[in-house]
Amino acid sequence: GVMPAPNGGSEARATLHRVFGYETFRDEQEEIIEHVVAGGDAVVLMPTGGGKSLCYQIPALVRPGTGVVVSPLIALMQDQVDALRALGVRAGFVNSTQDFDERRVMEAEFLAGELDLLYLAPERLRLESTLDLLSRGKISLFAIDEAHCVSQWGHDFRPDYLSLSVLGERWPDVPRIALTATATHATHQEITQRLNMPGARHFVASFDRPNIQYRIVPKADPKKQLLSFLREEYPGEAGIVYCLSRNSVEKTAEFLTRNGIDAVPYHAGLDAGTRAAHQSRFLREDGLVVVATIAFGMGIDKPDVRFVAHLDLPKSVEGYYQETGRAGRDGLPSTAWMAYGLNDVIQQRKLIQSGEGDESFRRRAQAHLDAMLALCETAQCRRGRLLAYFGQDFETGGCGNCDTCLVPPETWDGTIAAQKVLSTVWRLDRERRQKFGAVQIVDILLGRRTAKVIQFDHDQLSVFGIGEELTEGEWRGVIRQLLAQGLLAVEGEYGTLVLTEASGTVLRREREVPLRKEPPKPVVARSAAPK
Ligand code: ADP
Ligand code: ZN
Repeated sequence: GVMPAPNGGSEARATLHRVFGYETFRDEQEEIIEHVVAGGDAVVLMPTGGGKSLCYQIPALVRPGTGVVVSPLIALMQDQVDALRALGVRAGFVNSTQDFDERRVMEAEFLAGELDLLYLAPERLRLESTLDLLSRGKISLFAIDEAHCVSQWGHDFRPDYLSLSVLGERWPDVPRIALTATATHATHQEITQRLNMPGARHFVASFDRPNIQYRIVPKADPKKQLLSFLREEYPGEAGIVYCLSRNSVEKTAEFLTRNGIDAVPYHAGLDAGTRAAHQSRFLREDGLVVVATIAFGMGIDKPDVRFVAHLDLPKSVEGYYQETGRAGRDGLPSTAWMAYGLNDVIQQRKLIQSGEGDESFRRRAQAHLDAMLALCETAQCRRGRLLAYFGQDFETGGCGNCDTCLVPPETWDGTIAAQKVLSTVWRLDRERRQKFGAVQIVDILLGRRTAKVIQFDHDQLSVFGIGEELTEGEWRGVIRQLLAQGLLAVEGEYGTLVLTEASGTVLRREREVPLRKEPPKPVVARSAAPK
């Protein structure tokens, strides 16, 4: 057929088909691309996985000259460039991992006009030699990736980003596009200001995925809970189940298969051939369930993933959002389902404690986990919490499509229960110079004469049996929530419970402790079931 007369839009679309092999643009991609192709500046806020890269890659291909991409992710540059080259895009990079000769080759290619895209680390733009090199070639656009790194208040601040305002000064006629997945209003303002882009058009994609129903259920027997979720709500449908360890991936896949669900495992311990085979089956077939570690999902673009289930707690809200975001790309009703319990909190806290990294790394990991726990423990709309985390407001009435909206959880005054737990922890710590985990605390509260209670004379403690008003499950819920609220902490490799500075305010009766009631059984409501 004869195509209509070419313009910026159709050329962009032609590039999308020809180079990247995709049918249609997503959401705002086309508008952003046309704006930049026409020479405009843009600030783009889009969730991770939303498709930011094409927003500068296609304009770089359509406009004459080389697109210069500033990215702090040096470790990924080689992969990005390799992936582009595999598509026939002439891409290169200059960073500190290269030796002199490699750099010279890239520089020569740039000067000869043989590059469509050139990736640079931000620190290189502080060097006069780099600026000089750039001014000797032809530049089609500047893309500033991870633009929130310019924010001094953000968690990823990079001083080198501050010097990027020089780009607008030295190349006033070259369009600039700043991109980020961090959407707080303050960050947004700061990007515009510090990169000196007052005339930029702003494209703010919503982080909301209205067709995904968010549900977090109390963990009892997670594999069985998962099985009934699948059987009751998504029999024969495709989905992803995330587990933390390779071992639990294997066991869960086996369990599902034994129970008549078509499921395969996927983790980094499997050989490349098996992994590729499982991945391509998932993409090709209807209704396959992949049980995976987080290694699975990068670049997976299957539209009809009906559910994403988590059997273990993700380490951060960003991770949770990204993983659950693989559900329902086709816009049809889908579910993000997670089973979550006390052991998740203890395990993740232990991992951070015993993991690598310096103190500030640990603090950041802790803060990420705390935000994730707050999402799990909230009595309010999950979607509202999730969007608030990314800096977006959501109407206060609740979304009507998450578990807390569908069945609002009850809260109760847990002050006395909290005091009982904390004083038990305190007694064990003080009097015995021995530290114990959650199981022992609950046994003592319930007045159980287990072997371990007898062995340490814990039946002699004044707190022995003071907690018979609650069940074991309820006590575990109390401990979990105290951990999530920072009123209790985990120490060492055995998951020992210890007090925090904030514990004192509870023990001294200076504050109340509202707790969420443990739901008697998992919520199974769905607003709209796909057939
Ligand atoms: P981000 O940088 O926003 O995290 P990416 O640019 O890496 O996201 O894109 C995420 C995934 O979506 C990639 O696998 C990409 O190829 C794919 N993708 C992006 N745009 C489209 C599109 N229009 N059609 C299909 N897939 C797309
Ligand atoms: Zn809601």
